[in-house]
Parts: sequence; structure tokens; C-alpha cells
Amino acid sequence: MAVALLVLGFATLAFLRSSQKDGAFARVTVDGEVYGTYSLAEDRTVDVVTSYGHNVLCIEGGKVWVSEADCPNHDCVEKGAIAKTGQIILCLPHKLSVTVVNEGEEAPDAISY
Ligand SMILES: [Zn+2]
Repeated sequence: MAVALLVLGFATLAFLRSSQKDGAFARVTVDGEVYGTYSLAEDRTVDVVTSYGHNVLCIEGGKVWVSEADCPNHDCVEKGAIAKTGQIILCLPHKLSVTVVNEGEEAPDAISY
């Protein structure tokens, strides 16, 4: 377990140093809490409805973007698609963030080799 954590730690460092890898998951957080983690390998639309507002995430072809939102400035929509680890879409009015990550604690199968 400690070794796994250590490996994860190194992996995280590696992501921070070279953030130009294709990501595997989109991690959505709202107000600092993880709302959900979605595989980028699976095309889908995710409605994120919280007390702050509504964002529609699109996942297609290994990319994720915000296609619709009812926030006032639409920064999140204008950000466009992200696909590399470490890239992030923020929607400040909705306290929402979408981060592209690689394998993590949500996907133990992917790192059990
Ligand atoms: Zn927004």
C-alpha cells in the first residue's frame, strides 16, 4: 500500500512536470468536492446540476468540454476542449472545475499491473 502511494506520488509529480500526456479521465469537482470522474474513452454527456448552477459536459473522442452553462460569463464554455493531463476548465460562478487526470484512485484496475 505504501509503495502504491509512493508510485502515485511520483506519478503526480510526473504529471506536474510534463502535462502534455493524453489524459484518461475527467475529474469534476464542485466547491472542492469530487462530483464525479468520467472516462474520456467513453463518449457521453454529463449534466452537472448543483445548487450553484448547471453545466453540461461533453466527452467525445478523448476530449472534454463544457458545451452549455447558465453562468453569467461563460468562461467555461469559451475555454473549449481539453484532453491533456493537468489541463483544467474552471467555472468560477459555479465553483466547478474539470481536470484531466490519468489513472488515479478511482481506477484501481488501471494501475494493478
Ligand atoms: Zn461557467
